[in-house]
Amino acid sequence: MADNCRVITIANQKGGVGKTTTAINLATALAAIGERVLIIDLDPQGNASTGLGIDREDRDISSHEILLGEADIIDAAVPTAVPNLSIVPSTMDLLGVEMEIADADDRVFRLRNSMERARSRFSYVLVDCPPSLNLLTLNAMAAAQSILVPLQCEFFALEGLSQLLNTVDQVRHSINPKLVIQGIVLTMFDKRNNLALQVVDDVRTHMGDKVYETIIPRNVRVSEAPSYGKPAILYDLNCAGSQAYLQLASEVIRRERQLTAA
Ligand code: ADP
Ligand code: MG
Repeated sequence: MADNCRVITIANQKGGVGKTTTAINLATALAAIGERVLIIDLDPQGNASTGLGIDREDRDISSHEILLGEADIIDAAVPTAVPNLSIVPSTMDLLGVEMEIADADDRVFRLRNSMERARSRFSYVLVDCPPSLNLLTLNAMAAAQSILVPLQCEFFALEGLSQLLNTVDQVRHSINPKLVIQGIVLTMFDKRNNLALQVVDDVRTHMGDKVYETIIPRNVRVSEAPSYGKPAILYDLNCAGSQAYLQLASEVIRRERQLTAA
């Protein structure tokens, strides 16, 4: 495809590891440097939509309609308060979509097939996944060039990672041969906690240079921001969490450049 659109899926089947926070703040950081960015909210919880201040009544066309094949990404994307950043919101309707499309031959490709026109409009598309390796996440993996995996700095961080990596392998062998792991980002790091340091060591030992140098600290400003419908980067640019997400964005861009050059 002769366009420069990069589609990155943010996935981890564990909940509460920082997927949505990473989607929102990485997207904001990319938009701040002039990239045209779209988030696709594929979680029925709709945390990315809420965290970006999109009211329920402004979710006429949501990712549900996209997966049903009833709408195009371009029609579903709504602008956010962040310049250059739009979002395809989600609603609870997504909970039923697996059943609705279960019998369709193209059920794994619904997202990918709806993206054609969006590819010329946006330079980065980030897909925020639900905490499950279900059909929604498979749609996100089928549509992406790369996957970004947030891992929370806690004792069980590596547990479940091999299952996720196996799924990525299967997707690569069956539906999306070009899919690569962009990287693994350690989140909610608390430097006062010795265990967290141990987890960072372990993850780096197992996953090597797949792990970004940037580590996202646990930061109360980051957790407050969504209740104001704002990315942390807008809510408090100078807090340690926002600064870490800006640094992560530059690593992501560097890796995307290497991937496109390869
Ligand atoms: P997921 O999308 O993987 O379920 P979230 O991004 O929603 O995870 O994060 C889970 C919770 O942790 C949210 O309440 C969020 O505000 C909080 N959180 C995420 N990252 C941080 C951070 N760096 N510091 C403090 N709280 C965080
Ligand atoms: Mg989430």
